[in-house]
Amino acid sequence: MDGRGERGGRRGRPAASRGRGAVKAAARSSSPGRGRGRGAGGGPGDAAAAATLRGARRDGSAARRGPPARRGSVVRNLPAGPAAGGGEAPAAPRSRAAAAGAPAARRRAAVPDGTVVPPVAAASSSGGPRLREVLSRLSLGRQDVSEASGLVNQVVSQLIQAIRSQEGSFGSIERLGAGSYYEHVKISEPNEFDIMLVMPVSRLQLDECDDTGAYYYLTFKRTPKEKHLFKFLDEDGKLSAFKMLQALRNIIKREVKNIKNAEVTVKRRKAGSPAITLQIKNPPAEISVDIILTLEVQQSWPPSTQDGLKIEQWLGRKVRGEFRNKSLHLVAKQNKKEKVLRGNTWRLSFSHIEKAMLNNHGSSKTCCESDGPKCCRKGCLKLLKYLLEQLKMKYTKQLEKICSYHVKTAFFHSCVMWPNDTDWHLGDLDHCFQKYLGYFLDCLQKSELPHFFIPRYNLLSLEDKASSDFLSRQINYQLNNRFPIFQERY
Ligand SMILES: [Zn+2]
Repeated sequence: MDGRGERGGRRGRPAASRGRGAVKAAARSSSPGRGRGRGAGGGPGDAAAAATLRGARRDGSAARRGPPARRGSVVRNLPAGPAAGGGEAPAAPRSRAAAAGAPAARRRAAVPDGTVVPPVAAASSSGGPRLREVLSRLSLGRQDVSEASGLVNQVVSQLIQAIRSQEGSFGSIERLGAGSYYEHVKISEPNEFDIMLVMPVSRLQLDECDDTGAYYYLTFKRTPKEKHLFKFLDEDGKLSAFKMLQALRNIIKREVKNIKNAEVTVKRRKAGSPAITLQIKNPPAEISVDIILTLEVQQSWPPSTQDGLKIEQWLGRKVRGEFRNKSLHLVAKQNKKEKVLRGNTWRLSFSHIEKAMLNNHGSSKTCCESDGPKCCRKGCLKLLKYLLEQLKMKYTKQLEKICSYHVKTAFFHSCVMWPNDTDWHLGDLDHCFQKYLGYFLDCLQKSELPHFFIPRYNLLSLEDKASSDFLSRQINYQLNNRFPIFQERY
């Protein structure tokens, strides 16, 4: 997930802090009963997003079916609750009668540019799949996944042995399970894996290479232990991801020829990609394995992360402290904003923390354990990942800028907005999914999705506005029509 998922070169904008305000406002608008004292912030669109959802919930049974979402058919046009400025939003109507009872005229409004947009219809009560059924369908592929992962494990173990046995440079490399398979939220395709190869380094100097706070140049502090890494320094003394990957790739290319029980090839290098990609033939399918080179240093996280990971209300202050004491990971990743691509930039990676949060996601310790209450957090994440995957299959070009890391980031923000296990009751799957989706739509419409760990780093910059708008229209259409795409096969 890390290599494919997180994206390059987004510039942090001052608006990132407004993004957090929006989070709070959306939380208030959909979760009025919580009564936590949260700061003011966000605009009228926040409450409006929630309002759309209320109208489009599964139990909202208005017979109207909206036309396919057209330009401007976004939730912003809906009557907004008084979320801005700290006022309480009206309670979300959760009953069928309340949802269906909103007069259609109230949903019709002019957007600022004067375009009159069609009313956003409530979902019809028949025809669409129940989300729970969709989820159970998604978990059917388990067997395939575990077979594929057995093969991947064999191949990777052999490669790691070969890498370690080379004298010097990569002797201490270790494997770290990362990405969705290990987080148990892998969906649909059993044929894509990410393997992080982690290399411990004693101490590094981090220098920000742009204003995102995510990308760094790395140099060694005085008298490093890792003299064997000196050959990977470039002429400025910066650790070159390019040189390291090149060396690693050469070892792997040699070794794949010795793999007997599968046909493995190394794919050609993609410019700027931190990954080395293996193709494993596993008829009838091909398995693709991204190998991501990761440096691990035991030192405190850089200042850009100071205000991130706001999990105090959700997982607790203590857990936040424990996470921030964990090692710092940096992946070889070209910052595409650099004028000359020198291959010497590294990006912070938090996939080890993300994995820990997903696997231990309850505000109570017993959430989803065998003897504890069950929640729908992971179900919601799987559904939105699946929705995005399906849409990306259908609209590959239009959605190339959007990836599952956006969905995952929005998920973590949602966990913070609705921190209690009771906010994610298993029986409320539809409602919870739609409020999470509502927040994601809100991010798309504002082009603001702060990185969960680096709040000033916006993952949805204005440069990619066309993609965000396109996705927002598609999701609104799906929402208003009970997710027909969950029935389609690509
Ligand atoms: Zn749970």
